Amino acid sequence: MPGAYGPPQVLEAAAVSIDVLELPRPLGLLLLGPLVAVGACVSPVDDPPAWSDTNEAPVPPSEEGGMAPDDPGEGGFGGAPPDDGAGGSGGAAAPPATWQIFVVDIGQGDATVVIGPEEDGRRRTLVVDGGDRHPDGGRILRNLLLEQGVDAVDWVVLSHFDGDHVGGFVTISSSTSLLWEDESCTPSPWFPIRGIFDQGIDTNTTQSSEQWTRCTTELSAQLSVPRHAVAGGEELGTTLDLGGGVRAMVVAGDGYVIDDPQRVASVNTPNERSVALLISDEQGFDFLVTGDLTGPASGAENAAVELALADALVARGVDVEVLRVGHHGAANATHPDFVADLQPEVALISVGDDQATNYHHPRCATYDSLDQAPVELVMQTERGYPDCASLPLEPVVMDGTIALEVTGDTYVISGYGDHSPAHGGETLSFDRTCDLQGCR
Ligand SMILES: [Zn+2]
Repeated sequence: MPGAYGPPQVLEAAAVSIDVLELPRPLGLLLLGPLVAVGACVSPVDDPPAWSDTNEAPVPPSEEGGMAPDDPGEGGFGGAPPDDGAGGSGGAAAPPATWQIFVVDIGQGDATVVIGPEEDGRRRTLVVDGGDRHPDGGRILRNLLLEQGVDAVDWVVLSHFDGDHVGGFVTISSSTSLLWEDESCTPSPWFPIRGIFDQGIDTNTTQSSEQWTRCTTELSAQLSVPRHAVAGGEELGTTLDLGGGVRAMVVAGDGYVIDDPQRVASVNTPNERSVALLISDEQGFDFLVTGDLTGPASGAENAAVELALADALVARGVDVEVLRVGHHGAANATHPDFVADLQPEVALISVGDDQATNYHHPRCATYDSLDQAPVELVMQTERGYPDCASLPLEPVVMDGTIALEVTGDTYVISGYGDHSPAHGGETLSFDRTCDLQGCR
């Protein structure tokens, strides 16, 4: 049926439906642990980790490495689920395991990392966008993944082909690609890849997006890594299994939104065609990331997709807890009705101090939308250059990567690491616990 899409699929990272990209075993490699211990916080890691036959996770950073939050709490980052104190539950349901979301301080750009709860001896990883290649988004992402002991990237989702989203995935002018080694698409020895999603049709080709398309096509053809195009309504409703009941669902892409086989009218630009994901656990926590989906009309862009997505999610009964604000808080980011419909408690904005001076991200129109909803807590990776003298709300400026540690219906928001990976400033000391009702 024209314009229709197939039934939603659940893609199991461990299943044979997505073949693991088998990589050449690096020779003469150094162990990760010592690398991190000697200063991965302040200098990029230059050598890949040793790779074992059993595909075990690299050695996580030592305590001295200083990369973990000061006090991750019980069952903190990468640790075991918190003990509910029951001790020997005698068959009672196991407490939900902890999983993590990182809104990476990547400068002007977007990069989100989700690391699922431990299941079957490993934690599945999703990377949504790779930031820009300035300031070397690929290296920033690589270091974070290594620090977290990630042993494979199960899912890579590119919201759209703009340089501030694809840049960390490519290698140009000695920048670091997360996925391959060079412009000839030699697979990176750092992380096997299991699945790749993008918006399929690149209508504004750049050197970066050309490399992405060429390399992901080659990887798919040569190494049986599928490249899924979220285009023409395909893949809407597909869920990516992150283990432990945590799943990422494709809810928008190429101008389509979930539960509607018809393309949204008046979709004109790649931003409006961004792939959006809803990441949820079984206890009701929902995190929405929308790439550069646009809000209030500006130029050729409008809020049609964003508002259709809000309608679809509301119709499904989705109550978003945490919204990753679209389009870096630009003047046409996040329509006020979109925020009002979804009622997130927390809004996260990725903004760079290295942005073009005329961007003025986050724009005060975005703050107004969040303030009107109202959103309880607004956080951003860096200060940016807002375009108003006095802000309608006071955002928490992390000056670094924002980390969420989710355990069932409760999540803790903090800063990750001790400095901004994008420009080196000192990360704010911050720690806030929230649940489905709000923050305290
Ligand atoms: Zn962007």
